[in-house]
Amino acid sequence: MARSVNDPDINTANTKVLEKNNVGKKKNVGNKGIDLDADGKKLTKPTTAANTKNGPDCPPLGLKSLRVDDSQFQASSYQRMGLGPHRARLNIQSGIADGDMYDGAWCAEFEDQNQWLQVDALRPVLFTGVILQGRNSIWSWDWVETYKVQLSNDTETWKPCMNGTEEAVFDGSRIEPETPYLALFPEPNVARWIRINPQTWYSNGTICLRAEILACPLPDPYNIWQHLSEKPTGSTDNLDFRHHNYKQMRTLMKSVNEQCPRITRIYTIGKSYTGLKLYVMEISDNPGKHELGEPEFRYVAGMHGNEVVGRELVLNLMQYICREFRRGNPRIVRLVTSTRIHLLPSMNPDGYETAYEKGSELAGWALGRYSYEWVDMNHNFPDLNNIMWDAKENDTETVKTANHYIPIPEYYTKEDAFVTPETRAVISWMQDIPFVLSANLHGGELVVSYPFDCTRDWAPQEDTATADNSFFRWLATVYASTNLVMANPDRRICHSEDFQQHNNIINGGAWHTVPGSMNDFSYLHTNCFEVTVELSCDKFPHASELPTEWENNKESLLIYMEQVHRGIKGVVTDKLTKQGIADAIIKVEDLDHDIRSATDGDYWRLLNPGEFKVTAWAEGYFPSMRRCRVGVEAHATICDFALVKTPQRIREILAKGRRLPQDLQLKLRALRLRKLRASTRAINQRREKGRKARGGRSVRERRSFRGPRLLTPLA
Ligand SMILES: [Zn+2]
Repeated sequence: MARSVNDPDINTANTKVLEKNNVGKKKNVGNKGIDLDADGKKLTKPTTAANTKNGPDCPPLGLKSLRVDDSQFQASSYQRMGLGPHRARLNIQSGIADGDMYDGAWCAEFEDQNQWLQVDALRPVLFTGVILQGRNSIWSWDWVETYKVQLSNDTETWKPCMNGTEEAVFDGSRIEPETPYLALFPEPNVARWIRINPQTWYSNGTICLRAEILACPLPDPYNIWQHLSEKPTGSTDNLDFRHHNYKQMRTLMKSVNEQCPRITRIYTIGKSYTGLKLYVMEISDNPGKHELGEPEFRYVAGMHGNEVVGRELVLNLMQYICREFRRGNPRIVRLVTSTRIHLLPSMNPDGYETAYEKGSELAGWALGRYSYEWVDMNHNFPDLNNIMWDAKENDTETVKTANHYIPIPEYYTKEDAFVTPETRAVISWMQDIPFVLSANLHGGELVVSYPFDCTRDWAPQEDTATADNSFFRWLATVYASTNLVMANPDRRICHSEDFQQHNNIINGGAWHTVPGSMNDFSYLHTNCFEVTVELSCDKFPHASELPTEWENNKESLLIYMEQVHRGIKGVVTDKLTKQGIADAIIKVEDLDHDIRSATDGDYWRLLNPGEFKVTAWAEGYFPSMRRCRVGVEAHATICDFALVKTPQRIREILAKGRRLPQDLQLKLRALRLRKLRASTRAINQRREKGRKARGGRSVRERRSFRGPRLLTPLA
């Protein structure tokens, strides 16, 4: 029997290694020849076979990443098109209804030992192993338990994969269909075609599988057609293209800071449940301060810890900006001097470390998505949508519900509220800095979704537009139309949904409702506009794919940041004293979403081109209105306001009689944040004490219960 990661003895060995190592240390199983970890430099280099008994570690052929085309798959038989051989890709997700065109595996039509799935590598390669997974379906359970492998150079004669003198039989899936199982061949084999030939399968199911194949490319100097059989890879930007665990991420950020000390600053916004810091890289010509009139931008990656592309892109981006700024690249110099940029590469470092330990091929679809306490952070923000919609139903002519800066609900500020430390940290950060624009980087699909994410009246799916729908659609389009994969009209759909018919953008609610999402919270609680970018079909691509991912997203990441300079901006001041007025309301006629000025009176109102009637108003001042024209150029129109104080006598009259309503909304909002911060502090102190009492050992090591899996996780 071939060696597999799921052999009990290896499992025990791995557990021991894990226990010895702390968080962030790579699982040291490389010397067993099963290190599929994301250390690209090591894996992509075809090393000599001398280093392990099982031969070299080889990268995946690309069934999961879609590098292997649908046309390269064949099978002995298949039940129907939706379960065809091209669906035999590791981690592929089925549509909701069985029976559609996009199902969650290849399933053979017949139940016998003569069934096979065949993959054409397009040229001779060194095959070293297979990874198998069962069928993704809500309705049925199917997986292959043991299988044989055959290899061929012409599809006529097939050579069985041997274990000594016997034909090797490999272990496939066990117990459930989602965990990927690796089997390495006793002897690596050179061939062009490979067949997976199921021998036994789950007794209540049938022959269905999803797979990845490990193979090293061979040098082929005689193949003049080689360029035709290979898709272009790599990037000319020489960045640190590999997966970075917590420690490596910290080291990389430090080195960027050392190379560009004048334009960068590292700070933390809080800690994860297990005590990993949430690091932010700030990039600005004056790091550490807000400059009057300069808009603030953020990228948040890794909210779902196993969606790792965003994390690496954000790390690449900071290296790229630092280098290009030093080289004097005019576009980057302009961006850095006119914008304060904040990059959070990992919002869920606990989840990431869990996925990273398994690596790009063995983490599966869901491992590491959630927080340590098994919370999906994108459902963990307060649901302000329903608070606002409920209140609006009671609106009268005289009393109107505010359309912005909706306070956090009371229950949410309690110590026992089910709010992760990471979510608390991000909420606090959002109020500390007057962010104007953001994107929330995810993975597992290729689409940009814009708010609202939550539908009204609990509809499972319904287009739910914000007042700023046209600008959000513009933002989403800017990213989607410059992403090289999304923009390719011939691309294959990722799993089961065709977003190309909507130009790769979609309203969040129209996709699937998400109450408590970060985007909706950002829009309703702060001035910041935020969209979700689903960066790639594969949540955790092999490290060798990272240069391509960078090239696919480089222009999109830059041009999206530049959108922070659209619309109007200005300063609201006291006409007499010339002092800036904080928290002044900026109202655009016919747009039911106001924004507020920051501490120094400066504000930014993102708008599409057009002419707008804009009113600025603050407590104790007369409102002031002016017309502001927004052009098509990517720089904001300056629209300043100088407000005149209401006379003392009027204020006194108002105070005696019908009092002017104080800005209760604003007060309540500040009060609730103070409460949330106080409860967060109390929780953190308690947790820190607990950690010390346990002798400083990480909580991770004693983890036993991960909780139930409630839903099929989406992207
Ligand atoms: Zn996600």
